[in-house]
Amino acid sequence: MKINLNKNTQKWQKIAREYADEFLQPHEVEAELNNGELSKEITKRNKERAVELGFTAIDVPKKYGGLELSMVEQVAIWEQLGRVTNALSWCFPEAQSWMFEACSEQQIEKYILPMVQGLRKDCYAITESESGSDVANLKATAKKIDNGYVLNGEKWFVTSANLADFFWFQAYLPDEEEDALFLVDIDTVGIEMIASPLFSHTYAAHHPTYQFKNVQVDESQRVGKTGDGMSYTHSWFRHERLMIGARSCGAAARLIEEAKKFADNRIVDGAPLSEKQAIQFMLADSATELWASRLMTFEAATADDNGMDVKTLHNRCSMVKLFVSEAANRIADRVVQIFGGRGYMRENVAERFYRELRCDRIWEGTSEIQKLIIARSLKKRGLDGM
Ligand SMILES: Cc1cc2nc3c(=O)[nH]c(=O)nc-3n(C[C@H](O)[C@H](O)[C@H](O)COP(=O)(O)OP(=O)(O)OC[C@H]3O[C@@H](n4cnc5c(N)ncnc54)[C@H](O)[C@@H]3O)c2cc1C
Repeated sequence: MKINLNKNTQKWQKIAREYADEFLQPHEVEAELNNGELSKEITKRNKERAVELGFTAIDVPKKYGGLELSMVEQVAIWEQLGRVTNALSWCFPEAQSWMFEACSEQQIEKYILPMVQGLRKDCYAITESESGSDVANLKATAKKIDNGYVLNGEKWFVTSANLADFFWFQAYLPDEEEDALFLVDIDTVGIEMIASPLFSHTYAAHHPTYQFKNVQVDESQRVGKTGDGMSYTHSWFRHERLMIGARSCGAAARLIEEAKKFADNRIVDGAPLSEKQAIQFMLADSATELWASRLMTFEAATADDNGMDVKTLHNRCSMVKLFVSEAANRIADRVVQIFGGRGYMRENVAERFYRELRCDRIWEGTSEIQKLIIARSLKKRGLDGM
């Protein structure tokens, strides 16, 4: 199922596939059986290799020593990394291009460039108990004081906080009556992890709850300027929604390949499963949905590369996230069914993806929220303007 990609994109696709196959995939079951964790040596080796290959610099401007790859190239990379379960591909930090637009030179030096070198890692503290889908309803506050701000609030589901060095912390500024983003070192006085719940998937990256109590930060830790509000968080959402599409395509491809292999070899009533029409239909539906998913994802990436205006692009990324994450979940469900009892075993890739892909319909905005964004876009711009 080939998409017409240029030589450079194919090169990156191959590099990412080899990395996923050689460094990550062989360790999935080991991670699954060890709370998502691999030995220190393997974790270090995987990260170092990712840095060496340039994965931490794919979305970094050349001006800062990055590779500045096109969005199509980035999607091609993340599609291959998405073939691996247990979030083993999250072993390296990701500096993203919007960070270089948002941050001051001092912030870039202190927080962003060390991520490119694999030396620091970030996490996003946006969601609260009463502000998830309604992300603009933040209760966390940043109160202005001389030379800085005092942060208060409770943040939920802070992915990778157990492995991170600093937060992107979104809060409401009562003085300016709007939101703002801050870079906050994780060891700042007043920050406490108050819970670390267990989730369906088995990842080394946890999603703890953090309390910020009178946390003092310097003026220089505010990201962007007055009036930027949540615009950088929206940039992050856009990027992640597209990459959820890419990773889900990779996961779906792997699932279909594994299901086909199994169906070709499992003999029932004297014939391979793959000769039963019920199984063929499940595989055919899955392959078709994957094809549609890949076309959408690569098209949205191309639109981004061609400089599509941000609002239209925002809608495209929502459509990708909605369609591809839902399709990947349907595919995982079918593949579990094709595997039968084996598909319910944690050592089976289908079982793991069945749990893991579920979250892609929830985080970075639920499917319902993506539908609201798409419906709003349709209402404002009409079909031709979308
Ligand atoms: C494993 C995991 C990791 C996460 N990592 C992070 C992270 O790193 N940083 C971060 O900030 N957040 C993170 N999140 C939070 C995630 O983005 C939110 O869970 C998500 O946006 C949904 O918000 P919520 O959980 O508050 O659900 P709610 O907003 O309470 O929604 C509940 C249900 O109501 C529906 N709903 C809500 N509003 C509407 C509406 N207007 N119309 C129709 N239906 C609606 C939703 O679709 C959903 O089905 C993570 C979540 C999970 C599960």
